Amino acid sequence: NSMSLMDFLGKDYRGTAGLPVINIPGCAPVGDNFTETVAMVLLFLQGIGPLPEFDELGRPAWLFKETVHQRCVRGGYYEEGIFATEYGGKECLVEIGCWGPVVQCNITQRGAINHMGGCMNTGGVCIGCTMPGFPDKFAPFYKTPPGSTVSSNAVRTYGAVIRRLRRMTQQYQNMEPRWDESSHQIPSGWGQVEKPSLTSRALHYLYEKMQFSDSARPGTYVGEGSLKAKGKHTPEV
Ligand code: SF4
Ligand code: SF4
Repeated sequence: NSMSLMDFLGKDYRGTAGLPVINIPGCAPVGDNFTETVAMVLLFLQGIGPLPEFDELGRPAWLFKETVHQRCVRGGYYEEGIFATEYGGKECLVEIGCWGPVVQCNITQRGAINHMGGCMNTGGVCIGCTMPGFPDKFAPFYKTPPGSTVSSNAVRTYGAVIRRLRRMTQQYQNMEPRWDESSHQIPSGWGQVEKPSLTSRALHYLYEKMQFSDSARPGTYVGEGSLKAKGKHTPEV
């Protein structure tokens, strides 16, 4: 259990320029976080810029407000309740040890070097290396964080429903409007699309009703003698 420099120097410590200890955490810290903070402090000391905002732990506040999870490229998988069971998968890594939902770190936004790389982008779980509790409070690494049991089970249930609804909408949006009107007789050579089931068609119908409830559907003429009045959406060719 090591002591931080901030604890060692004490809460009243101020450097020669009157500044307290500034923490730019990480193992190792993202280089751009370091240079950006140093640049802002130098601008302040030169009287050119304002004093940068630091949080209660002495971290640059604008860099460490958001969690890893809020910007993670795998967030869509988490939201649909799809979790990796082994390393090398493209899904959310929470069940194989990712602490991203509670860790404040901007690597998912900024990348490791030149906006490239970063833990989740390269298949790694978050082990909380920017947090004062690291490493002890995040051990053992690569074990499911206990707090994620509630959230991932809730998301798994919700995600299973949402995923199915989204696939139905996706199927609907993968059809040209003209195909819908011709009972899905698809004239295109490349359009080898499965005909939607009766349930899907009923849901698509309701979906479209809601979508265009207060606006005209594209291709629908609303004037007198319009195609809409004749019950048609697209002009005849
Ligand atoms: S991999 Fe981690 S940070 Fe990314 S979505 Fe999953 S839990 Fe969140
Ligand atoms: S382990 Fe977590 S806190 Fe450390 S750099 Fe990776 S995402 Fe950020």
